[in-house]
Amino acid sequence: MLMTQSTLVTRFAPSPTGFLHVGGARTALFNWLLARKHGGRYLLRIEDTDLARSTQQAVDQLLDDLRWLGLDHDNAELVFQSRRLSVYNALIERLLVEGKAYKAYETREELEALQKQAEREKRGFLYRRRDLSAESIKQYEAESRPAVVRLAMPVRDYSFGDEVLGEIKLQANQVDDFVIRKTDGMPTYHFAVVVDDAEMGVTHVVRGQEHTLNTFKHIALQAALGYDRPVYAHLPVILNKDDGKKMGKRDRDKKIRVATHNWLKNKQQTVTQLASYCGLSAGRLESWLATDTQQLDLSEQVLVMQTVGLRESDLPEILVNDFRRNGYLPEALLNFLALLGWNPGDNREKMTMAEMTELFDLTGVNKAGAKFDRDKLAAFNTAAAAGATSDRLLAGLKDYLAVNPESPLNRASDDQLLATLSMCAGFRIFRDVEEKARGLFLHDEEVVYQPEAVEKVLRKNNGEGLGVLKLIHAMLETIDPWSHEPIEQAVKSFAENRQLGLGKVAQPLRVAITGTSVSPPIGQSLEMIGRESTLRRVQRCIDQTAPSAG
Ligand code: GLU
Repeated sequence: MLMTQSTLVTRFAPSPTGFLHVGGARTALFNWLLARKHGGRYLLRIEDTDLARSTQQAVDQLLDDLRWLGLDHDNAELVFQSRRLSVYNALIERLLVEGKAYKAYETREELEALQKQAEREKRGFLYRRRDLSAESIKQYEAESRPAVVRLAMPVRDYSFGDEVLGEIKLQANQVDDFVIRKTDGMPTYHFAVVVDDAEMGVTHVVRGQEHTLNTFKHIALQAALGYDRPVYAHLPVILNKDDGKKMGKRDRDKKIRVATHNWLKNKQQTVTQLASYCGLSAGRLESWLATDTQQLDLSEQVLVMQTVGLRESDLPEILVNDFRRNGYLPEALLNFLALLGWNPGDNREKMTMAEMTELFDLTGVNKAGAKFDRDKLAAFNTAAAAGATSDRLLAGLKDYLAVNPESPLNRASDDQLLATLSMCAGFRIFRDVEEKARGLFLHDEEVVYQPEAVEKVLRKNNGEGLGVLKLIHAMLETIDPWSHEPIEQAVKSFAENRQLGLGKVAQPLRVAITGTSVSPPIGQSLEMIGRESTLRRVQRCIDQTAPSAG
């Protein structure tokens, strides 16, 4: 099926080696928008030719992330490259027969030696076809020596027009006979991508700038295979706002390293002590702390984070799944991602998917790196949440809870969740709602009194706060009916009668019911917990935090 149709066809072609990165999500979005804008088709293909790194779990995660974003693809049957080996092999055989490709038998050591030689001669290493006698080939074949297949890339100048970057050129002296089939029999990315784009009728290849120079290989392959050349558009790199470096998974590790250095300094601890708290080797931590090239693996990260008091939500989100677990709305994330390297030409920023679809255009894509401004994303999310219907917010919060199964808000009914959302109105992300309201959904005995809150709110000034709690218990029993307005009124009168500021009463209550000094408004919080539970928590707090209780 070559490109005879006039419909615009785009594709997103991730390699399933882990969760979807925001950069990948931005690529998917731009392809989706372009196809939707032109009434074309947006296809999804799984590039899993790297068997050692591709996993089914990663495919499932990827599909789940794309579903969450709402970037639906138009091919009912997903294309998996690993299932198309016979197609690639038939084409590779054809190129071999036509003399456009050839087998190369160098071992890894031989290739390394050639590279070293190039380094010594201060030139880049480019593989060009080497004359092999028919005899040597016969011998290699007889001993079944592993071979790759390389494209005999015609030595000439190459160029292509990029919709974003303009004309891109490669000089003849940079031409390299690259591998199209590896020794394990799998096609390389370059080969499979070209064949599949052609066979799927892809008219527009929109992908990250890390692939710009690969395009020379791709256009050479298209020429060898007799395919049309699609339109190319390479998207700008996504950069961290603070250091201007390419945003990547390492940024999470970096944040943990900085927090660990601070912890060691503030707590005056040694790396050996830290290692013993974490159950890791001191040597491992020493070398990780000393460089910024090494990374801890995920399980090590968790151990260090627990010790130095860093939470998952303190780490910069990089993967789509990180944003989902922190409770962003996909519509806000998509709006933000769309502006990473594109703008509609006016100062417009807040857009719905329908508006972005209407306005999207490759000519509005920038060349220069796009800064990932987390404050701006938070502002987008705050605005999207403030403007969303309660049904939308409820669905969003339930999705957040589904991916945060340990949250006590999972115990709440829909009505309680709706009430919680309105108590927390103005929130940034669902994680903030959870942090503010989680105490309300704990079982009484699960409330843990934070030492700082106990000190500051209950024990300070000779236990002033604790004194309030002891007195207020009796007053709470008399409130009728138990709903937020009478509760607020009663707390207010209680404070006025004792000539105390409202905070002097509300804060001790807050610590008693949640263990912390943050919660939604006190009347609504107490109403939600119920009278019985409130009284139990107040008593329990007095028992556990009065100085005699330790
Ligand atoms: N599988 C490649 C990647 O994930 C796709 C590149 C392309 O779009 O051609 O980077």
